[in-house]
Parts: sequence; C-alpha cells; structure tokens
Amino acid sequence: MLKGLMMESQLTTNAILRRAEMLFGHREIVTRLPDKSFHRYTYKDFVERAKKLAVALRDLGLRRGDRVATLAWNSYTHLEAYFGIPAAGGVLHTLNLRLPPEDLIYIMNHAKDRILLVDHTLLRLYEAIKDKVHLDHVVVMGAPGELPLGYLDYEALLSAADLDRYEELSLDEWEAAAMCYTSGTTGRPKGVLYNHRALVLHSLGVALPDAIGLSERDVVMPVVPMFHANAWGIPFAATMVGARQVFPGPYLDPVSLLEDIQEARVTVTAGVPTIWLGILQELDKNPGKWDLSSLRSMTVGGAAAPRGMIKGFEKRHGIRVVHGWGMTETTPVGTLCTVPPEMDGADEETLYDIKAAQGRPLVFIELRARNEEGIVPWDGKTMGELEIRGPWVAAAYYEAPEARDRWTEDGWFRTGDIVAIHPQGFMEIKDRDKDLVKSGGEWISSVELENHLMAHPAVAEAAVIAAQHPKWQERPLAAVVLKEGQTATEEELKQFLAQKFPKWWLPDAIVFVPEIPKTSTGKFHKLVLRQEYGEYLLARDREDESV
Ligand code: AMP
Repeated sequence: MLKGLMMESQLTTNAILRRAEMLFGHREIVTRLPDKSFHRYTYKDFVERAKKLAVALRDLGLRRGDRVATLAWNSYTHLEAYFGIPAAGGVLHTLNLRLPPEDLIYIMNHAKDRILLVDHTLLRLYEAIKDKVHLDHVVVMGAPGELPLGYLDYEALLSAADLDRYEELSLDEWEAAAMCYTSGTTGRPKGVLYNHRALVLHSLGVALPDAIGLSERDVVMPVVPMFHANAWGIPFAATMVGARQVFPGPYLDPVSLLEDIQEARVTVTAGVPTIWLGILQELDKNPGKWDLSSLRSMTVGGAAAPRGMIKGFEKRHGIRVVHGWGMTETTPVGTLCTVPPEMDGADEETLYDIKAAQGRPLVFIELRARNEEGIVPWDGKTMGELEIRGPWVAAAYYEAPEARDRWTEDGWFRTGDIVAIHPQGFMEIKDRDKDLVKSGGEWISSVELENHLMAHPAVAEAAVIAAQHPKWQERPLAAVVLKEGQTATEEELKQFLAQKFPKWWLPDAIVFVPEIPKTSTGKFHKLVLRQEYGEYLLARDREDESV
C-alpha cells in the first residue's frame, strides 16, 4: 500500500471547540432559565467555561475514559458539559431524566459513572436514588443558594478553576467521548459508546444542506432533549458551524417554545412529533398571533411525523417540515427526507407522500432491508427489517455481549424497524419489531409493564401494546386475563403499577379479556392484539367528544 501523505489530524470534539474559539467568540447562546427569564452569553464565555470545567473535573480526580453523567435540561451549562467532559478526557454520559428510578440506578451502575452534573431543578431525581448509586462527586448546576452538605456547586467549581491550567489533551478520534443508554427490547437498557470521530462526522453529515442544513447564519434551537441521543447531534453541529444557539430549558409547552422562536428569531429547530402537534394546534387556534417569519425549517423525528401535520404546517403556516429517522445506536440521525430536484414538478399529494416517509440515508450511511427471503428489492412495497451501517453506527453495545445478535454476520446493525425502501432510496417505516411503546418520543417498556402486572395476585396473563393516541402518538394499552375466581379493577391495577413506574408509564386503558392470542410458538401475538385494540384510544376519544 502506498500511504497518502496527509497530516494525522484527529477528528475530535476539541477540534470543534478550537474552531468555535477561533472564529465565533462574539456569537450568542441563549437559554430559557427555570425562572423563565433568558440567559445570554457568547461563544467566548462558553469556550472558557467548558475549558474551566475540564480543569475542574481533572482536579476532582477524573481520569481518561471515566464516565461523567449529566441529568439536565437543554441549556448552556449542558452545552459546557457536552464539550468540557470530553476535553477533560472523560465520557459524557447523558441520563434520560424521564426514566423510572430503577432504570437510572441500573444505568449509572452499569456505566460506572464517577461524577454527576445535575440541574438544581432535577436534584430530587438524584436524591430518590442516591443510596443505590456510587458516585465520587455530585455537582449541582444552577443552584440559587447554599447547597446541602455533600454537593459541589458548579459555579464555585468553575470560579476556582484556573483557565491557565487548561492543557489540551491529545485525544484520539477513536477514543470514547460520549455515551447514551437506550431501552432494551428485551432485558436491561443498553449503552451506546460514541467515539469522537463518530460525533464529528455526524456533525458534518447533519449540517449539510440536504440534511438538517446548518450554517453560521442560522439560529438553532434543539427542542429534542440533550438527554436523549445527543439532541440529534445538534449541539455539536451548531457549535461546529458557529450558529447562534437557543436552548428552551425545561419549558417545552407550545406557548413557551413559540415565544422562544419569536424572541430569538429561530431559523432551524428540531423535535419529536408530539411537540409540533401541540404547536400546530396553537397556531391553528390563534392564526396571526405568532411571528414565525424567521423559521426556515423544522426537523421532526424520533417517531413518525403524521402526513397531515407536515401538510398543515406547510400549507397553513408556510413552515417547511423535514422528517427524519434515527436511533440512539446511530448517533442518532440516519435518514432525512429532503426532496430531490427531479420531484419538484410532482403533484402535491405525491410530494406529501414522499415528505411523510422517513427519507434517504445521510452521507456515509448505507441502508438495506431483509425479510425471510433475503435482502428486499427497493420497490417501495416489499417489507423487511431495516439494517444500517456507517461510521456513526454502533458496532456493539457497551459491556453487553448477550446482545450481539443485533448485528448481522457481515457487521450491519439490525434496527428492529420494518420498512419498505422506494426506488429513489426513500425509506418508509411500516411497523416495528420491538416490544416497546414510544410515547411523546420517549420509550416505555411493554415487557416491564407486563411482568409487573403478572406479579399481581389476581392476574394470570398480561400483554401490553402500543395503541395510537392523538397527542402522544402511542400510549400503552394492557390486555389482562384474570385468574379464575379472582377480581381486580382497572384502577386497582394502575395503582399497583404506579408503585414501580412513573405516572406517564401507566397504561391509558386496561382491557379485561378471556385470553391473550398466541403465536404458534406460544408467544403473545401482539399483532392480533394491535389489530383489535390499536385504535381503541382513538375511538374512546371520539366517543368522549360526542358525549
Ligand atoms: P431512539 O433510540 O430512542 O432514538 O429510538 C429509535 C427508534 O425510534 C427507531 O428505531 C424507530 O423505531 C423510532 N423512530 C425514530 N424516528 C422515527 C420516525 N421518523 N418514524 C418512525 N419511527 C421512528
């Protein structure tokens, strides 16, 4: 092999930080604070504080590769952690604040987190689990005053850290930089360990014009949480291009978000369909009230964006919606639905059919789908399980050898999504081969709910399916068979579940059935249940409305 003669310049988050410092020092970063006011500072402040965080973490004893967890909303301090932790040689481990306490405990112990950075407003989540996790330090961000004994104050740490002591580590692009756990379809949550190279290449990929499309002229607001799949990599990509950044903090209701967009003149934003469904309703209710003239595009993903919603935004409010698909395992963006020039003349309905699909793969990402007969043709009809590969696709889960079967023998990742691929490369999700419910963009484990229901003395069998819901898109519905001679009410069973799971995990309906349909191998036949009860909540809603 004749080796090329190019420099060995490592693709690391530090390279993004250096660029931000060199070119974008004056640009602004705006955050909605818990008291609803706006915090504003510049990239210069951000870079300095990220470096100080790196110094402080090393002073606290952080070693190369140690995990530092965050439990935080989208904010400037979380952005500092996104860059400061990897700059210290650590691994940014974002914890999903919506998880049940037991999952959080499992995840923190499995990842062996050593330090936690937690928003003051979320401290109660940590306090509920603190006896069961093993951290060296807990650092509180945004504390309004004195902290109880045992906690460190983020601002005090940064003030004490001397910027002159910041020394850039020579990081390797293959080194771990971040980690994020995803709900396991079977068993416990699984950890995805991102390297620097994946984060950097993903940033380039999503920033391209035919992807999310980000430039220095943009004002970017990720509504998608920074605690779920790196907020689709937007904090890294926006910092890379030097865009003005806006963080909504804990306020994700339609009115607050519309205020943010209007106030900060946001041009690009991204989030799950539930968020945009709420915003569309508000816009339809109060036409002309909100000035969204700055908004250039809105990326929607994490769950299927309804066709009617995409059309509603575009036709009634002139807002372009870009539908995307991704997974925690794919850093996370895999496909985005931008329309190629050949389709410009297509009739409106065809265009909306295309826009409602999940889109084409980003640069360097390859897709294929497979059914029992092998790899399926790209004919837009034949369905198969989606498989994916590329430089920002996980090659294994962190310390979970039992999940090796999620990868094919030739190294593609099996997504568990059932799709058809159109001749032009548009991928369309048709179904999901995963026993999970995605409610408002966050996962609920059907298996965990079923297991706990079946632990109730009156329950013989229980199966949980994802039922369609107008706001949350999916909500859990449980079908329950009672033991002979036993009784239990829906309310009783919900209360039983509430002992273990957060409120938003509780099924919207529990239906009592004589038996659960089974497949030939004796497993619950969820497809049959879904056919019967998939629209149960929609029908119940309609009935309620007509009363
Ligand atoms: P997560 O790891 O939480 O990001 O979830 C990834 C999963 O969410 C995918 O495997 C899909 O099942 C689902 N998903 C993500 N985006 C979409 C989309 N645009 N349409 C339908 N399902 C989606």
